[in-house]
Amino acid sequence: MTEPFVNTSPRTWDEVKTTTCYMCACRCGIRVHLKDGRVTYIDGNPAHPVNKGVICGKGAAGIMQHYSPARLSKPLLRVGERGSGDFREIEWEEALGLATQWLSEVRAKDPRKLAFFTGRDQSQGLTGWWATQFGTPNYAAHGGFCSVNMAAAGLYTFGGSFWEFGEPDWKHTRYFMLFGVAEDHASNPIKKALGQLKERGAKIVSINPIRTGYSAIADEWIGIRPGTDGLFVGALIHEIVSAQRIDGDYLLRYTNSPWLIIENPGGEDDGLFARNAQGSALIWDGHSSSPMPALSPDAAPKLMGRYKLPDGRRAVTAFTLIAERFLDPEWAPENIAARCGVPAETIRRIAAELARTAFEEEIALDVPWTDHLGRYHEKMIGRPVSMHAMRGISAHSNGFQTCRTIHLLQILLGTIDVPGGFRYKPPFPKPAPPGVKPAGKPGQVKPNTPLPGPPLGFVAAPADLLVDAEGRPQRIDKAYSWDAPLAAHGLMHMVITNAAKKDPYGIDVLFMYMANMSWNSAMNVPDTIGYLTQKEPDGSYTIPKIIYSDAYASEMVHYADLILPDTTYLERWDCVSLLDRPISEADGPADSIRQPVTEPDRDVRPFQTVLLDIGARLGLPGMTRNDGSPRYPGGYPDYIVNHERAPGIGPLAGFRGANGRAQGRGAPNPDQLQAYIANGCHWFHELPDHMKYYRHVNWAYLDWATFFGFIARPDPVIHQLYCEPLQKFRLAARGHGSIVPPAGHRQRIADHFDPIPFWYAPFEGELVAAEQYPLHAVTQRPMAMYHSWGSQNAWLRQILGRNWLYMARELAARHGIADDDWVTVTSHHGRIKAQARLMDGVNPETVWTWNAIGKRSGAWNLAPGADESKQGFLLNHLISELLPEREGGYRYSNSDPVTGQAAWYDLRVRIEKAADQQPASEPQFAALKTLAGAS
Ligand code: SF4
Repeated sequence: MTEPFVNTSPRTWDEVKTTTCYMCACRCGIRVHLKDGRVTYIDGNPAHPVNKGVICGKGAAGIMQHYSPARLSKPLLRVGERGSGDFREIEWEEALGLATQWLSEVRAKDPRKLAFFTGRDQSQGLTGWWATQFGTPNYAAHGGFCSVNMAAAGLYTFGGSFWEFGEPDWKHTRYFMLFGVAEDHASNPIKKALGQLKERGAKIVSINPIRTGYSAIADEWIGIRPGTDGLFVGALIHEIVSAQRIDGDYLLRYTNSPWLIIENPGGEDDGLFARNAQGSALIWDGHSSSPMPALSPDAAPKLMGRYKLPDGRRAVTAFTLIAERFLDPEWAPENIAARCGVPAETIRRIAAELARTAFEEEIALDVPWTDHLGRYHEKMIGRPVSMHAMRGISAHSNGFQTCRTIHLLQILLGTIDVPGGFRYKPPFPKPAPPGVKPAGKPGQVKPNTPLPGPPLGFVAAPADLLVDAEGRPQRIDKAYSWDAPLAAHGLMHMVITNAAKKDPYGIDVLFMYMANMSWNSAMNVPDTIGYLTQKEPDGSYTIPKIIYSDAYASEMVHYADLILPDTTYLERWDCVSLLDRPISEADGPADSIRQPVTEPDRDVRPFQTVLLDIGARLGLPGMTRNDGSPRYPGGYPDYIVNHERAPGIGPLAGFRGANGRAQGRGAPNPDQLQAYIANGCHWFHELPDHMKYYRHVNWAYLDWATFFGFIARPDPVIHQLYCEPLQKFRLAARGHGSIVPPAGHRQRIADHFDPIPFWYAPFEGELVAAEQYPLHAVTQRPMAMYHSWGSQNAWLRQILGRNWLYMARELAARHGIADDDWVTVTSHHGRIKAQARLMDGVNPETVWTWNAIGKRSGAWNLAPGADESKQGFLLNHLISELLPEREGGYRYSNSDPVTGQAAWYDLRVRIEKAADQQPASEPQFAALKTLAGAS
């Protein structure tokens, strides 16, 4: 008898198209399988440089994102009160006409009155340029509440950073330290790489209060107390400097360690670099016993010492100050251990392991190269220690200085862009800090006029701030003011609060894109909803008009007036651009596109095309021709191909020029998108071996990067261990210079703008009574959900449809709490009720949960009793966006004082077993009406 044939792998497609995943920010290449035009299956693209065929659960579940029942299907105009869910479906022409009318009124009166903020959108090259053309400085994306501490710390120190700016040398590293990373930032690339490290026997050390995800597979887990990583790293520095286990050659050649700092206490030049008449920083030359320019090829710079300059002033090398700080006994492991919860012997052992790996397992690649001073090197010397950090460092009010401390450790070991160390991803390195300044000073914002530069940039001195003569902020989020001088990504978490309080001023239109600001992207959800619905005495809303674009019926949709429904990521063109947040590899630049693999079956339009359309209707100069017609009538794909940011440089670097063979710089190529599709929707240019390391000082690379438009000039990027821009702010706080902080800000600037990394306690812990709120509370993201945009997915919610409050068994026992008990969690700001789960592998003073799992009843087209809303919860309700009042009544935002990064993880709480054990989380908000537009 023959066995019946069962086809266990039926072919479910008749067509396969490549594109780029949007289920998280890693942007892997994917292959979308279609049958009769419907998506049936998604897998990884083996030829793609980011993931090389790997697909994760989120990426494969993109199919359910595409067919989500929460998709919006038609433009909507609010007809009831905000929050009521009463909308009227309208046609696109009416929607675009209304948006244009509202925005043109603002632009003609005062462009600042438009606040344009986007969430995790991946088209910031376009959205930032649009804001510039509109003329508003009030623009940013979500970086200010995600990772600007990390980005700014790296960019101001060595012209690169973790995450999209660089990565460990996975092939050669032998000791990998991971700070504050759960299972995100990055996802597939890190998973793949951790597998490689395991295969090679490299050691992985994870520093994280919680042992999940990557920490669970680490060789060593250090369950640190939240917010104290800077103490731990400072103690490691103490150990390696004490033992003189540092890379002196690297420090002398490629960092500002030997640069001379003026010592003139009380003087206006105190703490600034000693410079010659041409402005070059000076070092002390051991041959001539005199100062010489820092970049003199023949000099023999001294690393340590104090010297008298020819003009009589005293100067000290930067490294001397660094060594003096970290050799102080206060940094000794014994004095750090109790505060960070890591035994002194562990700190000492890790420091010894780092030094041993860096110096006794040195790598020497037989690759000759020439440095910035023309010095020929026969080999590329590597130190196989690498590090990566993300939100566990970034989301604290001390995150900028903590991340600078990590970079200091990396650089003392000589591990930046060397074999085995941390590697830049082009277009990085950039100058430290990058030269672009934010626009929006008084006088730069004019009716019907573009800004003279981009709204986001890098301030290097008080003169770059966006403040008026009295020191008042010019931006609605107070970025680049004395509240947050180095706010390179803005402060999105403050926009709604500040607009409602009219502090520093009110706005007329709030325009947002895929930012769930009435729910999981807001600190203090109840008050934020209050601000969105707050009215003036005449009955009008305090924030008069809210335009919102999203593909899904998220909680934010209910609080907007005009909804512009977006497509899913499988229905539109997109570009992942080197002008924006690229997908480059360390071995070379890369970019990619998304192509529409299927047509929308709803009346929706891609946001980027809509934005260009509105821009043309408004007559924005970059989006219209001289005759007033649209410059990009073909929408976003037209822009991607034909827009030039500088001559020959556009959103995509590949397949440029008339024949499609130019790379980086070349005329627009009308067939460029087809060339990308033919190449699997990506482009990658592998650098020759002699340009793959030491790129901050690699002559050939710097020349090439200048041609590609990555940097303006082929100047070396000398690592700024001593950060002079910070000292300029500190001098201003001491009253020096023409631009000084108002009296109330001075102490805060003086305290936190230290040019040498240091540690201070996270603010919330200092402001509340420790005995009342003894515990830390943080969130993480699970494997199945990276950013909240992917959290509502029919497949993934089966893995994690609700969340619990996790805590250590001994902590629970102290409070009489058992597994699955309902508990109250109280902060100085609010109280929630959640269900407890006990676990091993968590810092005993920390409770935590998965982020953004909790949903508001009725949102996302979920059933009213869905687990997400009835049992799921957010910690957001416990977090205030404002710190308590200071003398004079002023309330700073709950942010890092240097960059304005939202301090989500500073939260302090207490827990108790709930009196009410009813199985429901609290607070419960009134159910939102299911939107008529949700398909
Ligand atoms: S890691 Fe992110 S981008 Fe890559 S497949 Fe998974 S969800 Fe998509």
